[in-house]
Amino acid sequence: MPGDGLSRRELFGAALGAAFGAALRTPVDAQRAPSDELILVNGRIHTMDARNTVARSVSIRNGRFATLDGVAPAARPGARVIDLRGRTVVPGIIDNHNHVVLMGNRPGHHVPLENASSIADVQETVAARAKAVPRGAWITTIGGFHRNQFVPPDATPRLPTLAELDAAARDNPVYISESFMGPSTTNSAGKAFFGRQTPAVAVGDDGSIGPGPQATGRATLALRQTLLTFDERKRGASEAMTYGLGLGVTTHLDQGAFQRTNTASDGAAHEDNYTMHLPFLALRDEGKLPARLRINFLHQDATPDLPTLTDRLRHSFRFFGDDMVRTGGIGEFIAGLGPNAPFSEAAKLVARAGWRAEVHSLTPTDFQQEIAGYEAAHGESPITGLRWVVAHVPFITEPWLNRLRALGGGVSLTGWRYLAGTPEQNGPPFRTIVNNGIHAGLSSDGMQIAPMNPWLHMYYATTGVNARQRLVNDGQQITREQALKLYTADNGWFLREERDLGTIEVGKLADLVVLSDDYFAVPDERLKKIRSVLTVVGGRIVHEAAI
Ligand SMILES: [Zn+2]
Repeated sequence: MPGDGLSRRELFGAALGAAFGAALRTPVDAQRAPSDELILVNGRIHTMDARNTVARSVSIRNGRFATLDGVAPAARPGARVIDLRGRTVVPGIIDNHNHVVLMGNRPGHHVPLENASSIADVQETVAARAKAVPRGAWITTIGGFHRNQFVPPDATPRLPTLAELDAAARDNPVYISESFMGPSTTNSAGKAFFGRQTPAVAVGDDGSIGPGPQATGRATLALRQTLLTFDERKRGASEAMTYGLGLGVTTHLDQGAFQRTNTASDGAAHEDNYTMHLPFLALRDEGKLPARLRINFLHQDATPDLPTLTDRLRHSFRFFGDDMVRTGGIGEFIAGLGPNAPFSEAAKLVARAGWRAEVHSLTPTDFQQEIAGYEAAHGESPITGLRWVVAHVPFITEPWLNRLRALGGGVSLTGWRYLAGTPEQNGPPFRTIVNNGIHAGLSSDGMQIAPMNPWLHMYYATTGVNARQRLVNDGQQITREQALKLYTADNGWFLREERDLGTIEVGKLADLVVLSDDYFAVPDERLKKIRSVLTVVGGRIVHEAAI
């Protein structure tokens, strides 16, 4: 664990009074429990406010930031004071585009491999997971990583073999599947399970599943049908949010799933768009949802009568919920894509309903069709106040940015090219976009084709270097300040909650992250290793690292 030798006891053991002394001796509010107050002192607190204020102390009361520096808060007996001893603090990371709901609905005891940088790392991660789950329980990784991560730059990328996975977890079946549809690999216990399916899922002696994506599709389907219960989904949902908190992600804007078919054609990104949120809502009802979730609804109607989108707009409430869970917009698809897709019709329908739209773009054809469709909708029902977004946007150009900006729109940028990008398949043009001044924010687009870890995305945005240590996005790097701002202050806009989230300012919801390392000072490669040692959501400590 990186750090400066600060022990857990030292970090969390500071007593009230020692830090603030006389300044805190003011009357207490007897109505509230003492635990409602949290005070952090002696930090380097990057508020990310408009003046880039760096504060030394912050106090939190009733779930919101109460004071910064200056006048000390009115402390009560039992209020918790934490001496940060110079640690770097940043606002809670807002991931404005990801698929945490899919991650929460994975079969088995899901274990992210996005931070593994060798086969040995994979083995260590799987072995640690095996120790923490029941003997015989499935350990799975479905999406969020690339085999490029697992070997040195001069070696051929590969997944771990059956023998390597057996060495890590002999008593637990293991299934590791890259991206949407593989390649995939398993160990001996997994191979035995797949061999019992009818017909059997082919597994080679080396553990490789297949050949072909259909075999991976069948393997994933068999695991879903065998393992997933509502309680298992709830466990997965809780673990997905908890994983994010260890990275400092406090708010997720989920962008939906491809509607599942319950066939082998379903990949990692398929789920039921009508029920997959329920495990998260159940956690919320029990007061056990530890991070904030915002929900977009994904629709891909192929015909101009737009049956599912029409139903959604008729029967759902936009921006409805509370500070922990709230509905968002329609996205990351509002209709099917392609020359004959009813994109403009869908955009007009969403505009007429006054909803937010968000679509993804992987090619110039995508964003040109989408921005033109947005303009057509705007011609009928103005969208300038609705904050419509185009996500990912590799290859986007200044004229198209200007057209989107004229509509009051914004772009969501991700560093997913970190995993497998090349100088030809690179982008997005971070610097062009930041310089343009259009509303922009960073996101992960995890957890199928990209990692959730925001520090990997900030690494890529600031260096342009991919997982093979190859410079692929030269000329479009941005500064660390810019990258962090895109992941915090600028992302409030995407939620329509910039008054409540994104910066550490008095009155805002108290979400912050104490970092293991100084983000602004560490060498580039070290950025990837940054973790949270303490994450606070709404004034509640929801993650504490064992340091
Ligand atoms: Zn996405």
